[in-house]
Parts: sequence; C-alpha cells; structure tokens
Amino acid sequence: MAEGLGHHNRAVVAGAGIAGLATALRLHRAGWQVLVVERAPARRSSGYLVNLLGQGYDAADRLGVLPALADRDLGVFTSILVRADGRPKFTIPAALAQAALGPRAMTVFRGDLESALYEAARDAVTIRFGTAVRSVAQDRDGVDVTLSDGTTERAELLVGADGVHSGVRELVFGPEAGFRVDLRHLVAAFPLDRVPQNVPDGAGATFIGPRRTAALINLGPGRSSAFFTYRVDDPSAELARGPVAALGSAFGDLGGGVPDALRRLAAAPETAYFDSVSQVVMDEWHRGRVVLLGDAAWCVSLFAGYGAALALAGADQLGTALGEHPGDVAAALAQWEAQLRPEIRTRQALARKGTSQYAPPSRAHVWARDLMIRAIQLPGIRGLVQRSVRRDHG
Ligand SMILES: Cc1cc2nc3c(=O)[nH]c(=O)nc-3n(C[C@H](O)[C@H](O)[C@H](O)COP(=O)(O)OP(=O)(O)OC[C@H]3O[C@@H](n4cnc5c(N)ncnc54)[C@H](O)[C@@H]3O)c2cc1C
Repeated sequence: MAEGLGHHNRAVVAGAGIAGLATALRLHRAGWQVLVVERAPARRSSGYLVNLLGQGYDAADRLGVLPALADRDLGVFTSILVRADGRPKFTIPAALAQAALGPRAMTVFRGDLESALYEAARDAVTIRFGTAVRSVAQDRDGVDVTLSDGTTERAELLVGADGVHSGVRELVFGPEAGFRVDLRHLVAAFPLDRVPQNVPDGAGATFIGPRRTAALINLGPGRSSAFFTYRVDDPSAELARGPVAALGSAFGDLGGGVPDALRRLAAAPETAYFDSVSQVVMDEWHRGRVVLLGDAAWCVSLFAGYGAALALAGADQLGTALGEHPGDVAAALAQWEAQLRPEIRTRQALARKGTSQYAPPSRAHVWARDLMIRAIQLPGIRGLVQRSVRRDHG
C-alpha cells in the first residue's frame, strides 16, 4: 500500500543484495517507482548463515517476508566445541541458545533471505542485472545516473546499496581507502554438498584456537556449511593467494571434518565467500540526493552478526522517513541518518570487541573463553545471559 504523495518519485537503487532489495520493496510501498541495478549477471546464492534477531527480525516482519522464510528457518542447533583433532571438548545444547535468543529470531542462509526479498520485490520494481553505475551528476531537483549499459536515468534519489566495496561510494564520496577499516582477519564461508564428516546431525562443531576459528555445520544434505576465520598481518597478500592455498596453510593441521571440508573447497573454490573482514566508517551517509545504505555505508562486519539485520532496519526506516517528508528528500535523509547513527556506532564497537571471540590472541584467552562458555550453562548464569542477549538485540 502506498504511503504519502510520492507517486511521481523515482529512485535508482544500486545493488540487489539484502540492503538493495529491502530498500526497493520498502520504497515501492512508500509510493516510489524503483529501478534496481545489479552488477552481477544473475542472482547468486551463498552458503553462509545469518541470524536474524532484534531490529532485523522486526523489519523483516514489517516488510512481510517472514512467512516466506518460515520454512527456510534452520532453527537453533547444538554447538560442540572441539579440540584441534576434532574430539569434542563440550556441548552447548540447542535449547540453551534457543532460550537466550527468544522466539523472535531466525537462522537462514543469506541466499534464502535475499530470495525472499527478491520474490517480494520482483513484480513491484524493475531489476536490471549485469548493470552497474558508471557516473553520477546531481542538481537541486534530481540526480542523473549513467549506467554501464549506456543509458542515463533521472531520479529524485540514488541509493548505493552495493556492499562493502561500493562503487557508488567511490563515485560520490571518494576512494574506498578513506572509509574501509581492515580488521586484519580473513573469512571464508562455503556450502558443503555432503554433510561434514565427524559432526552429528543437527549440530555445529567449532574449533577455536589462538588467532583462528573453524566451524562445520551439519544441517543435512544441501543445508550444511563451513566457516573459517583467522587473524592475518597482511590481508591483501593473503587474499591474493586465493581461498584454497590460504585456508590450506591456516587450517591444514586440524583434524575432525576439516580436511574433508578443505578438499571440498579445492573441488569448487568458486562457491566460497572469501574476503578480509572490514568495517566501513563514514561521517556522512548521504550527500544531496545520493544515500548509502547497508554494508556500503556502515559495514559492521561479520563479527557483529548483525549486518543483514541493520540492512533491513535501515531500509525500513528510510521508507518511513521519506513517507514523513513527502517532496523533501533532504529532510528525510537527515532525519533517517540521525536516527540510525547511535545504533551503528554501538554495533561497530561491539564487533571490534568480538574479534577476540573468533580469534583469541593467545592460549590463555582460549582457556578463559572455554571457562566462560562452560559457566554460561550453569542455571544461575543462564538467566543473566538470556537477559543480556535480549537487551543487545531488543
Ligand atoms: C560469514 C558472514 C556471516 C554473517 N553473519 C551475519 C549474521 O549472523 N547476522 C547478520 O545480520 N549479518 C551477518 N553477516 C553480514 C551480512 O551478510 C551483510 O551485512 C549483509 O549481507 C550486507 O548486505 P548488503 O546488501 O549491504 O551488501 P551485499 O550483500 O554485499 O550486496 C551488495 C550487492 O551489490 C552488488 N554490487 C556491488 N557493486 C555494484 C555496483 N557497482 N553496481 C551495482 N551492483 C553492485 C553486489 O553484486 C551485491 O549483489 C554476515 C556476513 C558474513 C560474511
């Protein structure tokens, strides 16, 4: 249902990821006509899991995509902390994690969340694949967006939802080096076509050692995945080695299901998400009629476990702000940005603290972490943890 008087308003959205599709859907509901341009030639899926909680779950609810996601919810699984050779150290039952997260939470593949948004948006907005933004010129009344297919689109608003390496950000705000803060960790995540070895059904086996984490999740055929992250001194040099060589050196000594997962990666390296872990830190997310949203604007990094949630919430709030300021894009963007900033600041700070959870600096940190996880299972502490998780994501 359209809100306000915006029927003549046009927006171009760069990027058909979670942020771009959620923005397109929400702006359409607010009465805007939307063109989405996506650089990739076609839709892709990806094998890593995202937790949808707090504001992200609420925004997904308002965007109407929860019913489509309900049967793709992977639920909460049992976590087994393992030693380097794959033998279990201890187990955290699924019920404990479920109780901590509460009922308004979901775990889905990132690709499934993107598909649900795509299905909801595809008939409402125009989506052009294989198309990127080449140049941007704006005046008081609008913005001209020249695309890689040679056409130029005139719009009232351009949304750069084109991810951590955003092209729109580069064109309008400046080079990536001015905004991307490398956290000096690499991450690789990929789907497993067969269930991982030595991991029981419905469980994840996680090894956490000094400077690294390896996790294998067995949720059955077609739903299993692997996740690796580790600290590096020179992220660019490590990235240049490619995922097979880099992970082989960093995790080749581990046992359990890891050797088989690495063999699977070597057979299909193109299925891996492999990048350095970064945050994007900017003093402004909008300039005139151009606004950045999602990882392009504020990437909180995977250590926050909240980037998809913020992309959905940011898109939802942008639609609301534009609806509250019909015909006044500048006022809407200023209000939207002021409302969102405190939350992003908090999430970025939490994520920077979170790096030591995934890559503890020393054996002493690993030991302290194990002790904490064991303690979480004690009934008295369990209540405190539940309250704290719900406060953080409420
Ligand atoms: C391993 C891992 C685990 C994570 N876990 C969680 C979690 O548990 N919970 C959570 O909330 N978040 C999680 N996140 C973060 C979350 O996945 C991201 O924050 C979110 O997907 C960002 O969405 P986005 O749409 O902003 O960017 P992207 O997903 O990067 O989408 C950008 C899109 O723009 C396209 N594009 C790029 N350049 C151009 C261009 N020049 N022109 C046009 N199109 C372009 C790209 O092809 C892509 O489709 C995790 C991330 C990782 C890597």
